[in-house]
Amino acid sequence: MHAASSDPVGPMTTVPPGVMQQMQEVGRDLYQLALVTSHGGNLSMRVGLDMWITGTGTMLGRLKERHISLVGPSGLHEGPPPSSDTVLHSTIYAVTGAGAVAHAHPRHAIALSFDTDLFVPGDLEGQLHLQDVPVVEAGPRQVEQIANALQSRLIVILRGHGAYARGQNLWEALHWVTALEESAHIAWLRGQRG
Ligand SMILES: [Zn+2]
Repeated sequence: MHAASSDPVGPMTTVPPGVMQQMQEVGRDLYQLALVTSHGGNLSMRVGLDMWITGTGTMLGRLKERHISLVGPSGLHEGPPPSSDTVLHSTIYAVTGAGAVAHAHPRHAIALSFDTDLFVPGDLEGQLHLQDVPVVEAGPRQVEQIANALQSRLIVILRGHGAYARGQNLWEALHWVTALEESAHIAWLRGQRG
């Protein structure tokens, strides 16, 4: 398979079929569930010392092989320019045992994040799966703070922006994103604003 000559990409890399399928299916779910805009969010999977990550500005609902970048341990990449969140994904892999990371923009979770430092789900599903969800302030320490929080938590909210979830695979990360948004939506319906 070759990229069309008009695509602004480097040499093609062959994405492992299992990685490609998970990225396509989870990306499509996140878009169809309105957990990202057409061009928002990003996904990555760790394979050995390498990381496969969506390219910057790619559409999660329409991922093709030419949209996935391979980032090696040195930080050099093959394929399209990797997501602007690449350093954050690398840092999460360095300090957690995660095999995959998903970033999305769950709207009720974002709305709640303006007024709280810790979101505690009131619904039973949220309590069971998530316990509580730290809210990190955007700023120069956000990469370190998000990665550190994910050592003991499954998902973290960056205030006013979105959520970062870790999992053994992307399906697990999708579970935590959808669980967070469900809990946040319920909290919003109950009138809890933090
Ligand atoms: Zn984002």
